[in-house]
Amino acid sequence: MILILNPNTRLHSQEYQQLMDHLAALQGVQVRVHKEQGVEQTLIELYLIGDTKQLEIADMQNLPCVERVVRVSQEYRILGRHKDDTRPAHFNYNGVRFGQDTLNIFAGLCAVDTPEHVERMLRALRDNGQVCTRMGAYKPRTSPYAFQGHGKNCLPYVFDLAGKYGIKVVAMEITHESHLDEIREALLMSGNPTGVMLQIGTRNTQNFELLKIVGRQQEHPVLLKRGFGITLDESLNAAEYLASEGNRNVVFGLRGMKTNMGDPHRNLVDFAHVPVVKRLTRMPVCVDPSHSVGSRAASPDGILDIMHATAQGVLAGANMVLVDFHPTPPQALVDGPQALLLKELPYFLEDVQIAREAYLRRCALAEKFKEK
Ligand code: PEP
Ligand code: MN
Repeated sequence: MILILNPNTRLHSQEYQQLMDHLAALQGVQVRVHKEQGVEQTLIELYLIGDTKQLEIADMQNLPCVERVVRVSQEYRILGRHKDDTRPAHFNYNGVRFGQDTLNIFAGLCAVDTPEHVERMLRALRDNGQVCTRMGAYKPRTSPYAFQGHGKNCLPYVFDLAGKYGIKVVAMEITHESHLDEIREALLMSGNPTGVMLQIGTRNTQNFELLKIVGRQQEHPVLLKRGFGITLDESLNAAEYLASEGNRNVVFGLRGMKTNMGDPHRNLVDFAHVPVVKRLTRMPVCVDPSHSVGSRAASPDGILDIMHATAQGVLAGANMVLVDFHPTPPQALVDGPQALLLKELPYFLEDVQIAREAYLRRCALAEKFKEK
């Protein structure tokens, strides 16, 4: 059960103390406090865990400071959608809204290689009206002998250039808690010219200790990729780890499942799960067509499989697209064969727009035919 308190309830007030005393006296029920500092107000939610069946909604509603009560019947306590649950399905970060109702494109380099390539990428994004990108500094690689990413050495120029080209959010994978400190420090040293969305990759979806550490900070939102060999339920529980530690600004990423059944695609495209994740949780959903498809193969209609997969995700209501581009793919140090070209950026964006408009028309149609 979740008790949503009146906005700006003060932790030192007498009413709050009375409420906590009352809850402390309940047998077999533990209380977990979640505090969210917004721009205008502080929101406090109390999570009652344990034997909450005995509690009546009406009784809890009458307790001091309580604005609303939600009974959590299913899993995914914090990020899930529950009955009569009107908690928001969006958040804002560095001036960008991420919600189940928006669409943000994160085109960029799978792996940062040179400052020149970063600059060419970011300039193209700015010229095409984009304010988000992906930039990999820490690369989890199958082979220990493969390029592992430039790590902290590239952060100063990545962040400076992001600021120079008006990029507000950079999606960047981290694989270890020390990377979080390095990103924080580099942002500080460069005067916070941009924001960073921390990405947890598919190989770390169930790295619970990393999830807890990333969940304990609230300054950066998180893009959690679905694990490539586990169930959707297991991956959604991984997202819940982030939220249960305090960070609920989580975007859930679909990136294909590892199985030979997807051949010749790199992974089996799983974008039919976009509406499933939106139904089960309040997280915005990202699709990654590059790591799903893994090549620049095109169909006889002349459209790349990556663009077809993107359209499938967007048509199903995806809220974010993470996609690999590179100025000169043969020189890319990671995933060159699946990179789109800078000259394809305006084409890609227009193609996405077509799918987005079709999605919005589909929503309007569903509304028109809804049983009243
Ligand atoms: C990536 O986005 O660069 C990446 C490694 O993705 P994934 O974790 O989905 O393989
Ligand atoms: Mn990659």
